[in-house]
Amino acid sequence: MIARLRDQGIQDEAVLAAMYEVPRHLFVDEALASRAYDDVSLPINYEQTISRPYIVARMVEALRGFSDMKRVFEVGTGCGYQAAVLAHVFPEVCTVERIEPLYERARKLLSDLGIRNAELRHADGSNGLPDKAPFDGIILAAAAPVMSRTLREQLAIGGRMVLPMGTQEQWLYLIEREASGFRESRLEPVKFVPLLMGKA
Ligand code: SAH
Repeated sequence: MIARLRDQGIQDEAVLAAMYEVPRHLFVDEALASRAYDDVSLPINYEQTISRPYIVARMVEALRGFSDMKRVFEVGTGCGYQAAVLAHVFPEVCTVERIEPLYERARKLLSDLGIRNAELRHADGSNGLPDKAPFDGIILAAAAPVMSRTLREQLAIGGRMVLPMGTQEQWLYLIEREASGFRESRLEPVKFVPLLMGKA
């Protein structure tokens, strides 16, 4: 998987090392474990999916921007795979999931894996996490129809946010917060589950 990620253009050694370390097969159902390292997204129940390895790598690489960051926030823990990767790359991770059984399972798995620098919460992340803001990085694992100003405001100056955005057609965006405002770049077309409101 790591050699394929390099072939696909992933260059950040911190991201590649993290993805080498995290046992992706433990995050999917046993019946799918043999496909865990293929470059495909897989179902994780409750109509949700774990993103394919390339997308996780691409997003975390874009988030880090080859520079160190302290605290990052993920919306959409899902099975917890990307959260585990983030916890290998960054010192402090906060992640929220709106679907309770997914949150419970991810919390147990990350704890079993000895990951202590990720704080998981069962919550709707669409309005961010005001008690933990500002963040050096924010990453969304579900697509927002439009840019959330509330989330953007929780970025520290110099912070970066990576998110899929759009309804019919989705693109991955990078938002960089500068002292003077926000800079937006469109990275590549993607396909994500929608960001939904409220807890379930
Ligand atoms: N990073 C995950 C991807 C999970 S798919 C992984 O590695 O498995 C996206 C997840 O976002 C789903 O589990 C979905 O329930 C969750 N989600 C969608 N809208 C949300 C919201 N407003 N707040 C928190 N989680 C949300």
